[in-house]
Amino acid sequence: MPPAPSPPVDSTPPALCASCAAIQRNWRRAPGHAELVQSASRKVERSDGQSGGHTVTITRYVCDACGTRWDYENDRTNQHAGWSLAKG
Ligand SMILES: [Zn+2]
Repeated sequence: MPPAPSPPVDSTPPALCASCAAIQRNWRRAPGHAELVQSASRKVERSDGQSGGHTVTITRYVCDACGTRWDYENDRTNQHAGWSLAKG
């Protein structure tokens, strides 16, 4: 009997170029890299449970080298807001 084939992997993570792979995620004021092209920005409400809520700006960037889409959240109250891979 032949060995069972491996199931197809349908959740392959996007291939990041070396510059994107080096970005420190979820860390306030971590630098991006030179090939990120700024796209649209939007404002979203964040609640921190103390001041009730505040508005932060999330800026979309697209890497010119590998096409990865990033969101950078600028939230002065959240040390762990920063770069994250864009969803959708
Ligand atoms: Zn890239």
